[in-house]
Amino acid sequence: MSAASVDTLLHARWIVPIEPTGQVLTGHTLAMGNGRIQALLPTPDARQRFPDAGEVNLDSHALLPGLINLHTHAAMSLLRGLADDLPLHDWLQNHIWPAEARHASWDFVFDGTQIACAEMIRGGVTCFNDMYFFPEAAAESVLGAGIRAALGLIVIEFPSNYATDAEDYLSKGLEMRDRYKTEPLLRFCMAPHAPYTVSDANLERVGTMAAQLDMPIHIHLHETEEEISISLREHGVRPLQRLHGLGLLGPGLIAVHAVHLQRDEIALLARNGCHVAHCPTSNLKLASGVAPVANLMEQGVNLGLGTDGAASNNRLDIFAEMRLAALLAKGSSGQADAVPAHRALRAATLDAARALGLEGTTGSLEPGKSADVIAVDLSSLETLPCYDPVSDLVHAAGREQVTHVWVAGKQLMKERRLTTLDEAALRQKMHQWGDAIGRTGAA
Ligand SMILES: [Zn+2]
Repeated sequence: MSAASVDTLLHARWIVPIEPTGQVLTGHTLAMGNGRIQALLPTPDARQRFPDAGEVNLDSHALLPGLINLHTHAAMSLLRGLADDLPLHDWLQNHIWPAEARHASWDFVFDGTQIACAEMIRGGVTCFNDMYFFPEAAAESVLGAGIRAALGLIVIEFPSNYATDAEDYLSKGLEMRDRYKTEPLLRFCMAPHAPYTVSDANLERVGTMAAQLDMPIHIHLHETEEEISISLREHGVRPLQRLHGLGLLGPGLIAVHAVHLQRDEIALLARNGCHVAHCPTSNLKLASGVAPVANLMEQGVNLGLGTDGAASNNRLDIFAEMRLAALLAKGSSGQADAVPAHRALRAATLDAARALGLEGTTGSLEPGKSADVIAVDLSSLETLPCYDPVSDLVHAAGREQVTHVWVAGKQLMKERRLTTLDEAALRQKMHQWGDAIGRTGAA
């Protein structure tokens, strides 16, 4: 690398590269340029080799790859807190779907995604995997914010304000992908909503299109007992078995929730190289259950973390999900060594990148990868003394300790100030949406 290819040096108290596993560097600097990580090297060497580069001193900070939210519905931030304390099917059918029928629109998705991007950037999330109506509005919002995202080509059998039937969803999704496929910050997934909302014929089409266009398949799967009863009643098999029969299991499948799994189903996921997007808060809040994370990991199923939408969480906070995932895995397995802190952080970064096929781009601090980097200040009283910064990051720190965020080398937050989004304007928009949606109620 030439000195000219490095424009910024980040000198940090600790660097947590994620790969190699378990490593924490001290006295080191991350050199970035052309949007990429160019080198990790001892600070005196960095100053000597790159004397002309700008410098950022992060003396009490841990530098780590940006966190990845492997499952969300960003625009649903506009429905945060609208319908709490309900089980999934009642919540969806009697509250969320009616509210969406009244309000979902291009503007709803643009503004809702924008507030979600602001919350995620402030919480150290640099990439999210989204499933929602009007994905082109989400794309515009994401590009304005400068964050990285995987956008779903949503497929659902019933009509919405976005599309009339499965055919229409698919053609609009493909049009959206064609329009944005050269954008370096965007990736695309096929996003059939769930086994109970998509027919066999359309699931098969999704499988074919995903294979032809090299897209992962992002689907809610085995979230509740009720979903499994519906499948047994209507199809005679459990949802996972049905998807297997339709040829959808493989290294492109991201099974969201995966709460209710029998032993042989965990083995089936592992054998086929499927990924799980574990959403511990949403699973608890909707009383769906506790996913068998320790077993999934033991059997080698790759697992990332998601918040789900803000309407069922109600935060888009991957710090909270890391801690909860670790605690739930320990408590439910009876093994205190289940999901140690380094493992939780890896799930929130590199393993989630792998699920999206982005492990060559993001998820760890390695030369050649995109400079998707966050700094977390561990000098607050709540995170002292600091014996192991990774233990602090997972079990003690909060997202409010994230101070700086870069995506592809572009700074999106500096000393907790957003650089691409206007906080005051966003606040005003949220008051307007709150008034409009609140007037009509949840149902
Ligand atoms: Zn979801």
